[in-house]
Amino acid sequence: MTLPPETIILNGRLITFDSACPRAEALAIADGRIAAVGSTAEIRALVGPGSRVIDAGGATVLPGFIDSHVHLFGGSVELGCLDLTGVQGEAALTAKVREWAARHPQDRLVFAVQADYAILGPGLRTTRQALDRVLPERPFAMFAPDHHTIWANTEALEAAGLLRGGAVEAGAQIVMSADGLATGELQEPSAYAPVLRMTRHAGRDMMGLVTGADPQPPATAAERALDKAALEQGLKHCASHGITGLHNMDGNFYQLELLAEMEAEGTLLCRTEVPFHYKSPDPLDRFAEAEEMRRRFNSDMVWCNRVKMFMDGVVESGTALMLQPYPGTDHIGDAVFEPEHFNAACIRADAMGLQIATHAIGDLAVRRTLDGYAAARAANGARDSRHRIEHIEVLHADDLPRFKELGVLASIQPGHAPFGGYFPPGGVGAMLHRQQISLAYAYQKIRESGARVIFSTDWPVIPVDVMRSVKAAVAPLELEAPWCSQAQSLMDTLESYTAGNAWAEFNERRKGQLKPGMMADVVVMSHDLEAMEPETLDQARAAATLCGGRITWEA
Ligand SMILES: [Zn+2]
Repeated sequence: MTLPPETIILNGRLITFDSACPRAEALAIADGRIAAVGSTAEIRALVGPGSRVIDAGGATVLPGFIDSHVHLFGGSVELGCLDLTGVQGEAALTAKVREWAARHPQDRLVFAVQADYAILGPGLRTTRQALDRVLPERPFAMFAPDHHTIWANTEALEAAGLLRGGAVEAGAQIVMSADGLATGELQEPSAYAPVLRMTRHAGRDMMGLVTGADPQPPATAAERALDKAALEQGLKHCASHGITGLHNMDGNFYQLELLAEMEAEGTLLCRTEVPFHYKSPDPLDRFAEAEEMRRRFNSDMVWCNRVKMFMDGVVESGTALMLQPYPGTDHIGDAVFEPEHFNAACIRADAMGLQIATHAIGDLAVRRTLDGYAAARAANGARDSRHRIEHIEVLHADDLPRFKELGVLASIQPGHAPFGGYFPPGGVGAMLHRQQISLAYAYQKIRESGARVIFSTDWPVIPVDVMRSVKAAVAPLELEAPWCSQAQSLMDTLESYTAGNAWAEFNERRKGQLKPGMMADVVVMSHDLEAMEPETLDQARAAATLCGGRITWEA
């Protein structure tokens, strides 16, 4: 180190994830990299004129958190939407929605997020007629927390051209009633996309998820500015939770372009990996777009090296793909891909050297995804591919050892589990058979099988708040048998959110550890996490976040 360090962090309890030096008290940052790690006395000796000194005050210091499954654009936009978290019953819903609608008279569509599947009451299905009572005179729609279902009132269905049904992709459904009109329930993106086009951002925030294509006609300068302003708020919000890196789970050129512009403008506060989203109706030729994304976007701040696919839907709406029918039905869920097409897509992506991340929630969806990854390995030979499966909520025992065998990462959201503290435990339990529950949300069992487990939130499904997810993993709710405790150790959990997620993006030699030479992505916490009662971990916050040595958040 020739120059004095720009920033020095002293008096911390550093958890470095560097096996050569797992614990330390202080570090120095120069030129966006970690220059030295050591005792407070050693590092204090390096202070020069102009060095900024951060006193950690005995709190934990970690590599910056990486959330390995988010929808940045949608999450950012939703920070400005009506949030229905915790709202229950028609009266409460009506009051909330009408108050919001009155304050936002310009909105073409009154749009809410985080509507529980049973928001009108236990066992009650949400219908357009109920939502007509909630808000009769204007188009109104609301998103389920998992973003797999939208419910719309009659005005909104009419305006979107969906009241009399319409064509959708496999796995999606405009639910129809006996009278030949839509019930108001729209399952999966291709069914609800026309409703999203009526939102403030005209659905551009969700296009990377819904189609993977770009806005047509292209966004105007004013629309791009509106979208970047929302992303800027979203990135600030992430940085305030100690996050320095994101793995986005939807993608298109438009989103990559906006983020690259923000990098140049200095407003990109988190490193963001954006995938190529391959949809089941797409021909294999479309993988040429992935090649172009990888070629055009490859900085340390914005890059593409991955394909995202969906194998099924979600348990709550009965669209997750199961080995046996849902209790009391003859319905096993919906396959988004035919197995042959999925396998061919995996073989193509793997041959291009791309990482694959597939959403698979039901036990049959997980099996078919593993089959696709096995087919890629058989066709192309084994390589360090680090293919991932997202969610893995239900798993058959025969498939548990296949994660380790095939080198597949288990990408899990501890806060999504019924013992995660966000969603009511009864909801998903009623949709599963007793024998499925023992391997449901089984991330500790997957870890014990020798497979790599990484953690994330799937924001905006749940808040991007890292410490609430850490608490969900370390101190889950205790549910009765056949639910099994999947409690994680604090160290495994923190490793999953830092070094593990850096490994998942092939960047383990560049970030995820507090070690000289690594990118200076660092979070100084408000507390000594190891001294906290597990149930209180969500009270800890980020006191300071640094990305590439730049302070992106200070409490
Ligand atoms: Zn997701």
